[in-house]
Amino acid sequence: MNSRSNAMARPPVKGVLIHYHEIALKGKNRGFFLKQLEANLLQATSDLDCGSLRRPAGRLFLEMREGTSWEVLRQRLSRVFGIANFAHAFMMAPNLELLAKLIEEEVSDRSFRSFRVAARRAFKTFPQTSQQINEMIGARVQRICGASVDLTNPDLTIYIELLPAEAFVYFEKLLGPGGLPVGTGGTLACLLSGGIDSPVAAYRMMKRGCRVVFVHFYSQPFADRTSQEKTIELARLLTRYQFASRLYLVPFGEIQQEVVSRVTGRLRVLVYRRLMLRIAEQIAQKEGAQALVTGESLGQVSSQTIENIAVIEQASTLPILRPLIGMDKDEITQQAQQIGSYDISVIPDQDCCSMFLPRQVATHTTHHEVEFVERPLDLDRLTAQGHAAAHSLELSFPG
Ligand code: ATP
Ligand code: MG
Repeated sequence: MNSRSNAMARPPVKGVLIHYHEIALKGKNRGFFLKQLEANLLQATSDLDCGSLRRPAGRLFLEMREGTSWEVLRQRLSRVFGIANFAHAFMMAPNLELLAKLIEEEVSDRSFRSFRVAARRAFKTFPQTSQQINEMIGARVQRICGASVDLTNPDLTIYIELLPAEAFVYFEKLLGPGGLPVGTGGTLACLLSGGIDSPVAAYRMMKRGCRVVFVHFYSQPFADRTSQEKTIELARLLTRYQFASRLYLVPFGEIQQEVVSRVTGRLRVLVYRRLMLRIAEQIAQKEGAQALVTGESLGQVSSQTIENIAVIEQASTLPILRPLIGMDKDEITQQAQQIGSYDISVIPDQDCCSMFLPRQVATHTTHHEVEFVERPLDLDRLTAQGHAAAHSLELSFPG
């Protein structure tokens, strides 16, 4: 038997047909991108008892077994960046008669008043045109269901994709999360507070293919454990998109106390933030991270005026990425709700940056001013102290 008659003999296989984003696939990056997407898919579904992952031209097909739950699988795939769309599909031989039979069987269990057939030939070598296939299958469906054809707003769409060695049939196309596979964009260190913004910032960078190491500063013994617990929950939630995370928890209370004793009130928040960046940078270097990420958004709070952002930034030699800089709070909140981080972020806690601050915080600071007030501090020692006291936590998903 040649490979084509082999394919003919195979019964249809149930699974998920996955289409990936085209943008990154052009040129030399294609293999690298795909390999990472495949690895991420296998990791995201590692506990679900799926079958093999196949690579039909320009697509991926993950086989499902009897016990594989579609509901769970669908949730998992909705968090694998790089997937443009996916569908619960049958894979079978590219034979029109077999296709028609399978479709007849499948539609006879469904109730719909109108339908359309959307056939697509990935290669134009198939003897019939897409239109001829639509008409032939459409007539068979009409004969057994009596439903009418509606090309613009049908109750049911029957999707058919034809490749030289296989065909796919499905009835619902689901949107994937888009973006690029995590692991294709380098490593970043994200300053993760327990607030609303920074988890969204981390999410957006993961969506661009980056692995994110999390760094959280907490004010013990001056605050309770809430901010740490919230941040662990947030990191756990975000780990569902990158499958393995490291979270650094940095005790910042004693460092703040020293700042309070030597720096006047109005500039303290900038001094805290600059110390955070210095410590985060050391952690980033240890982790091989190429840039820092924050949840800053221009003008949202007094420390986020362009002057203050510039002054804060000078404390770091690494680039600082601020994916939310041009977003307003409503947009960020909406995204936080979509990700599921919002409900964790709004649990009341004491953010360490709001501790020991006067009512009025400087909004237009200069580099000179902040360097002047930092003079009594031994910055190298404080940075080393924070770095040395940091402890890390490993998180993984699934499991
Ligand atoms: P968020 O909602 O992320 O806390 P925010 O609007 O409250 O942001 P700020 O409190 O000014 O803004 O913090 C700006 C950024 O600094 C945060 O998005 C975060 O990246 C970082 N940051 C602030 N506090 C902490 C902290 N305790 N630990 C780690 N990073 C922090
Ligand atoms: Mg905050």
